[in-house]
Amino acid sequence: MLHSSDIVAPDKRTPGVAKIDPVIFPVLDKLYARRIQRLSTQADALGENGEYFRFLVHLVQAQQQYIAQNPLGPDEAATVRTLLDQKRDHAHLQASLLNIPYWQAAYTALVGQVAPILPSTVGDKLTALSADKEQLAHTATHLLHLDYPQVDAGVSVVLWAALSTCWAQAVSLGQTQDLPPSTTQSAHCPCCNAPPVASLVLGGAREGLRYLQCSLCEARWHRVRAVCVDCSSSGQIEHWTLDDAKSAIQIETCGDCTTYIKTFRLDYDPELEAVADDLGSLSLDAAIETEGFKRVGLNPFSFPV
Ligand SMILES: [Zn+2]
Ligand SMILES: [Zn+2]
Repeated sequence: MLHSSDIVAPDKRTPGVAKIDPVIFPVLDKLYARRIQRLSTQADALGENGEYFRFLVHLVQAQQQYIAQNPLGPDEAATVRTLLDQKRDHAHLQASLLNIPYWQAAYTALVGQVAPILPSTVGDKLTALSADKEQLAHTATHLLHLDYPQVDAGVSVVLWAALSTCWAQAVSLGQTQDLPPSTTQSAHCPCCNAPPVASLVLGGAREGLRYLQCSLCEARWHRVRAVCVDCSSSGQIEHWTLDDAKSAIQIETCGDCTTYIKTFRLDYDPELEAVADDLGSLSLDAAIETEGFKRVGLNPFSFPV
């Protein structure tokens, strides 16, 4: 793994003991830097058609700047973590979110950075929402309950990015490896219960281990490679690529539950970044969906409609 990697190296204090970390917590600044770099590369490659990638570069730069200038405090982090361990109904979650100023201020800051580069109708919609905290909390509750069709797609991307800055710091500040074993066997994040973006096969000191990357808190959690991330069956797992079998971007399908997840082979290409490179390889999704497979997981820059 490269020195600039956003994935922390394993603890080497006990040489010879191959302990698998159930969760790897994000180094946010490095993660954002890599995401910006990968989004920029794709924006440049697309030229005039790279407008959306250029918008995303601004958005991730705004996230990076926001957390550098406004690190989440331990008390607020603890409050956020109380929301993670229980399933709350809409009214309860909305009321709790309304009492956490951090993510609301993050949303306002991100909108301030990106609205000027957006068409005014889109920018005005984002700005109006930041002025109405009740509606903002109501909308955020829909997103956290994964009820995407209730939310305008443009709003979803910026609001999720704001929530993510808060949730990622809260999870990192409270990091613990003492998770119940069953939670790391889930298709959803054991830290915050959000869906994964994709699957990563790591290189370096964790050569060949598979982790899923959270779409919200950016944590990575371990899942063995032989099983389906959704139904845990191992009977009909297949790997697909568009070109050769050594491709660093692959699709893993499960014939038992007919789902798929994208897999980034960081052991083949450590430069890849799940969110950015997933968005740059949607032709793979289109190809596999015509075969009848349904995607597990969420790209926070491309909400399902
Ligand atoms: Zn998470
Ligand atoms: Zn399955």
